[in-house]
Amino acid sequence: MVVFGAGAVNRVGEEVERLGASRALLLSSPSGRAVDRMRAALGPLLAAEFAGAAPHTPVEVTERALRLVREHSVDCLVAIGGGSTTGLAKALAVRAGLPQVIVPTTYAGSEVTSVLGETVDGRKTTRSGPEILPDTVVYDVDLTLDLPVAVSVTSAVNAMAHAVEALYAPEVDPATEEKALEAITLITRALPVVAGSPADVAARGDLLRAAWLAGTCLEAVGMGLHHKLCHTLGGSFAMPHAATHTVVLPHVMAYNAPAAPEVMRRVAEAMGTDDAARGVHDLVVSVGGPTSLRDLGMAEADLARAAELATARPYPNPRAPEREGVEALLVDAWHARRPA
Ligand code: NAD
Repeated sequence: MVVFGAGAVNRVGEEVERLGASRALLLSSPSGRAVDRMRAALGPLLAAEFAGAAPHTPVEVTERALRLVREHSVDCLVAIGGGSTTGLAKALAVRAGLPQVIVPTTYAGSEVTSVLGETVDGRKTTRSGPEILPDTVVYDVDLTLDLPVAVSVTSAVNAMAHAVEALYAPEVDPATEEKALEAITLITRALPVVAGSPADVAARGDLLRAAWLAGTCLEAVGMGLHHKLCHTLGGSFAMPHAATHTVVLPHVMAYNAPAAPEVMRRVAEAMGTDDAARGVHDLVVSVGGPTSLRDLGMAEADLARAAELATARPYPNPRAPEREGVEALLVDAWHARRPA
């Protein structure tokens, strides 16, 4: 069930009750005003709160939140925030068998996927299953107006990455292609508006719609080299999720371009540019987003190891992920080069 619209947060209580629940645990990471709106919307259905969601869903955080589930006889999880908060809701749902209502305030798209990435002793593992997929998603543009521009930029490019990689997935179907291209067009158009006017409701609405479309693409098909590489950089080198996607995407697109010329032509057309990889790079630069792995804290000496890990096992990608070529693209991303 997906509820979309300005003021939709006021329907969260109704959605909790529709799931047959009356004792909600409200999950969040520090995200200000939006959480106050959520408390008001839940009213007497709010049984307890946990504001400690963290990136990459560390199990020790999940275990702390699980204690609250038990102590307060919680029968529903309500999460407001980005992919970190959604990840916590998913991790609790699989352990406690509880329904989830997710109110996303970033563009990560996790709310519409049945995938959960968790970190145990600093190692990231991924699992998937129908019990992980949230029951209800409430998209309310009003709750995204405060999202800082820097997070908005990286999160929107994270969504764009789902759309781009969906287009060259071997199993992609026409409906997914259409959603992916629409998401790319919406992000290209709306992101510069949001960067200049963060509270522009129409542009924020376009980004939220793009996030939903791109998230459904992520759920529909398998992802390729870009997601594999970002998973490696996040899981093994503690790189920040959305910012890493933002830096790496144009370089993976340039790497894949010779093997997927038609996809890149369609992406470029959707963006209104003549080269897809350079188009993404230029868009990121124009909105002040990150372009360098060095600036994100990656050590140059780790690039070779990252390339080795991300190419250790074969997986579908338009161009075979070869260690040398992948290391070269990481070097370009480290130096913030514009894709050739
Ligand atoms: P995030 O959830 O960590 O949020 C980024 C920052 O934005 C945080 O500091 C948060 O507090 C802040 N924030 C969120 N909403 C805000 C608001 N309305 N106002 C002000 N600040 C706000 O980051 P993310 O990029 O959304 O998610 C990353 C996580 O999601 C990673 O762990 C990643 O692995 C996971 N993820 C999972 C999937 C999946 O399908 N399983 C998909 C995408 C991302």
